[in-house]
Amino acid sequence: MNHNIYVKCDVCSAKTHCRVGLSNRTHQPIRFRCQGCGAPIDITVTLDHKQVTSDIDVGGAEMVDGNAFEGGDHFVDLHLDFPVSFGKYMMGHTPFMMAMKRIGDQNMQIHAMRLNWLNNVQEMAPQIKALFTLYVKGKHELFKEKVWEFLDGKIPCDTQLDINRALYMAIEKAFFPFAEPKRNVDAVTTITKLQMRLAKRDKAALNAFVDEIVDTGFLRNLQLDCLEIYPKIIDLELMFRPALFLDFDETYGGNTYYRVSAHEFDEVKDLFKDIAEIMSRAVVLVAGLNNLNRRGDHNKFSPAKNAPSSLKEFADWPLGLKLAQLDNCWYHIDASDIDHRLRNSIAHYKAESDKVTQVITYYPKKEGLEQATSFQLQFLDFSRKILGMFRETHRLNHLTKCLFVYYYLDMQGVKGTPFYEEDEPNG
Ligand SMILES: [Zn+2]
Repeated sequence: MNHNIYVKCDVCSAKTHCRVGLSNRTHQPIRFRCQGCGAPIDITVTLDHKQVTSDIDVGGAEMVDGNAFEGGDHFVDLHLDFPVSFGKYMMGHTPFMMAMKRIGDQNMQIHAMRLNWLNNVQEMAPQIKALFTLYVKGKHELFKEKVWEFLDGKIPCDTQLDINRALYMAIEKAFFPFAEPKRNVDAVTTITKLQMRLAKRDKAALNAFVDEIVDTGFLRNLQLDCLEIYPKIIDLELMFRPALFLDFDETYGGNTYYRVSAHEFDEVKDLFKDIAEIMSRAVVLVAGLNNLNRRGDHNKFSPAKNAPSSLKEFADWPLGLKLAQLDNCWYHIDASDIDHRLRNSIAHYKAESDKVTQVITYYPKKEGLEQATSFQLQFLDFSRKILGMFRETHRLNHLTKCLFVYYYLDMQGVKGTPFYEEDEPNG
């Protein structure tokens, strides 16, 4: 279903025809920029599921009469759940119909299922965020109470191992729409297998590695940083909807530009930097295990020119150089979404976005006052990069979890409590 509305910009009086495709989400805050002056125009749709109606609020513009899509005025397609084209108005080419055409009925159903899940996550956002806060603050009793509510089942929360397990079950449940389920299981299996092999081969060497990352606080800090990302993803859930759609869209990648109907570059560029930084530090764990696996000592890198002398030294290296030191690595880090030029440009305030066209332009080279060499990408592609990086960080977070399990179980003798028979969680 669509709402066709006609709005007049508060700033420049330019008029825009809007074809607003409705999502299932109760509250739908949509934003686009006036093509006359660049001012933000906000359309908020609120569904009343019981009465099968919806309210529309417009900010930054006023609704005016005249619903025919006449030439001369601006036009925008808007939808929270799909990327929408920047093209001209074409009758029948609604956001929903065009999306359906691109990915087919079956994929649309999976996409819709994930979005419905996101709707629930949004409604439970305060509860989910509280779980992270309570876990980090060590408020175990309250954490137990809240995690039981969220998982809809009583699982043991008696030992540190139990609490970790409960936290990661809650994460899996809340972030299910973002998951690539098979890949996560693969990552955990790969990590566990390697750990077991290393423990069998030379337990003292593995323990020396784990001791170092635990004693220095590195493992704990990395875990906390990973955990800080999840609530931010919840806050930006609207931006990820079109990005998630691209999981299914094999036609994507041509010259067509698509609009994202919520959030803008300036609101999310820090998240890109944060995730890139966390990934860069998580590589230290991968490298330590790789050195153990290949050379029996977590500090020993492949004896090439310029190899770091220790894991500690390696930790301070930039990501690109770090990745080059992972010789025949046991784990493939998907860093393809981290564009170093883009990341450096963002870090040095040399990336800007045209809010009307959603084109991001960045200038990676140091060129004094002049910024001559530039690259561009669409905001949709940028959001897709963040999605890919978040997924990889999530997998790397499993690595921190597995190392903690090894530390508590094998080195500290902490036991995990078996699940209560009658109360397996339903999530
Ligand atoms: Zn305007």
